[in-house]
Amino acid sequence: MSKENHDRKLGMHRRITRRDFLNGVAISVGALGAPSFASHLHSKAQPGADPGVNPPGLTGLRGTAPGAFDVAHALRDGTFWDDATTPIDTGETYDLVVVGGGISGLSAAYFFRKYAGKDSRILILDNNDDFGGHARRNEFHVAGRLLLSNGGTQSIESPREYSHVAKEVLEDLGVQTKIFYKAYDQNLYARLGTACFFDKETFGEDCLVPGMGSTPWPDFLKKSPLPRKIRAEIARVYDEKTDYLSGISKEEKLARLAKISYAEFLTEICKADPAVLPFFQSYTHDLFAVGIDAVSALACYRNPDDYGAYQYAGFDGLNLGEEEEKEEPYIFHFPDGNASIARLLVRSLIPEAVPGHSMEDVVTARADYSKLDQSSSSVRIRLNSTAVRAQHSGAPEAAKQVEVSYVQDGKLKKVTGKSCVLACYNSMVPYLCPELPDKQKAALHYCVKEPFIYTHVALRNWMAFHKLGIRQILSPGSYHSFTMLDFPVSLGAYQFPAKPEEPMVLFMLRTPCKPGLPRREQYRMGRYELIGTPFSEFERNIRDQLNRMLAPAGFDSARDIAAITVNRWAHGYAYEYDSLFDPHWGPNERPCVVGREQFGRISIANSDAAASAYTNAAIDQAYRAIQEQLKNV
Ligand SMILES: Cc1cc2nc3c(=O)[nH]c(=O)nc-3n(C[C@H](O)[C@H](O)[C@H](O)COP(=O)(O)OP(=O)(O)OC[C@H]3O[C@@H](n4cnc5c(N)ncnc54)[C@H](O)[C@@H]3O)c2cc1C
Repeated sequence: MSKENHDRKLGMHRRITRRDFLNGVAISVGALGAPSFASHLHSKAQPGADPGVNPPGLTGLRGTAPGAFDVAHALRDGTFWDDATTPIDTGETYDLVVVGGGISGLSAAYFFRKYAGKDSRILILDNNDDFGGHARRNEFHVAGRLLLSNGGTQSIESPREYSHVAKEVLEDLGVQTKIFYKAYDQNLYARLGTACFFDKETFGEDCLVPGMGSTPWPDFLKKSPLPRKIRAEIARVYDEKTDYLSGISKEEKLARLAKISYAEFLTEICKADPAVLPFFQSYTHDLFAVGIDAVSALACYRNPDDYGAYQYAGFDGLNLGEEEEKEEPYIFHFPDGNASIARLLVRSLIPEAVPGHSMEDVVTARADYSKLDQSSSSVRIRLNSTAVRAQHSGAPEAAKQVEVSYVQDGKLKKVTGKSCVLACYNSMVPYLCPELPDKQKAALHYCVKEPFIYTHVALRNWMAFHKLGIRQILSPGSYHSFTMLDFPVSLGAYQFPAKPEEPMVLFMLRTPCKPGLPRREQYRMGRYELIGTPFSEFERNIRDQLNRMLAPAGFDSARDIAAITVNRWAHGYAYEYDSLFDPHWGPNERPCVVGREQFGRISIANSDAAASAYTNAAIDQAYRAIQEQLKNV
């Protein structure tokens, strides 16, 4: 079949919003040429805010949208500044200027108001057209019905383990986690299981096999295209409860697991044939954004899968005897994920921007983006604004204020703050504060954020899943390695689509990793891939994969897809340390601790500062940063 005909069959011609054609007039830094990026600012601009647009309702390429990162990349490449570039002084002065409007930046503003007073003047700058950072909301309208999904941050994970401070924030915002026990329908999918999709490029034949994890392994694997010997090997590692490390102590076993990858554990410790590896390869994608070649066996042992799609094989007989804590269920999920927390934070800072009073009504509240940055408000959130410098006015130890320069609407501007919190990425901080000590800069650069694609596909119905008796699909060799029906949560006026004939949002996960390379190198390479991939390529892959997995159950991409949003998180999870590639540092030697040291009136927040990719880490780091700065008030 010709490419044109294939595209037609996939529905590439169908009318769905393809936002990168509209707003993706991304500035090609290279194309701008010498002398500097800044000197071109007045003619070529980062796409500005369109007052009529509701950002969560935009589809196509989202997450880090086209154009949002060009200024930052020019700064990184050393092509931003030239001697003649002088920011326009807005004359605005604040008690606190925050760079980054994610959970950490918003929490920093929340804590500052709480401790320094409600009248504190605060400005939050963010380079995106929406607030929340990773905690972003996706909206779809299908057949007159509103469908919500989390563009990034998914759930409040283990709220019991939140710090006292983070728990208090949730409480203040009106979030009662006990409500999710009712809001999240734990029965709806109870009879729907997990399937594995074996693709022909990796396994020789396209084949979807339901019953993964719920039928005995030999029976499940028998339906796969895997050779008999490999099927037997996989079943063996799952079913035999052998102590592959017998004869050494528990501590020695853990030390051994810490220094080998899970792939090596399977082949060298469990003595499985290396041909089993492609089946397990993507097990670690959701938590580590790389495959089993780059994650320690210890981390796999200690981090069970959130989605309940698979279990790691081989550990059962090792007699590690670690106490299993009773885990909280993975149900603390707003229909738009932790975007609701971001929206509740914005409501607490600028009440008129997100109307309502409760954790229930925030779900369907329509945010008024025109209220975010009003001169009459003590707190202002300025979107589409990339900070390019945070500099003390004078020597850092004696200065009374920080000047923060940023690019908005193609103009380089300046504000001043008595304090400044950088709640953006660690790797951005050295470019904003070139005068930081070299050791601190190196520590900040150690964090290489983990890239992800969170794709959401609005379907006209989910009959194919119902027919197959599945709710999720692992697809270890495919473009997206995991696919799942959205979380079944009804909250406030929002009703989850409980019937198979109703429209539904499908979540698909892609990690653009490059197996075989060291973990941080895989992230760097993956990021380049994400930035260079146009929406049409994502779309083609999504349509093709869904057809191949689901067409035998009556699915048709051309007919059944109503909209696609590809949330591109080129700078995704904070880098978390793992014994496989990272040294064992003392607690105060860890790069996140060295990197987050206070620098005069500038403090550093963000989940990177904790090397922990969780909402509570972002809140805790904001609290610490504000405690540092309160000494200046
Ligand atoms: C796909 C995904 C799923 C996740 N799921 C979960 C989950 O289920 N549960 C959980 O607890 N955690 C989850 N996390 C982690 C969690 O989202 C983060 O730990 C937390 O939201 C990070 O918040 P933050 O404010 O520290 O950073 P961010 O959300 O990254 O916000 C930083 C903001 O600063 C902006 N910025 C950067 N540079 C500049 C600049 N120069 N000028 C202006 N703005 C700038 C960025 O664009 C961004 O908007 C997930 C993360 C990702 C990526």
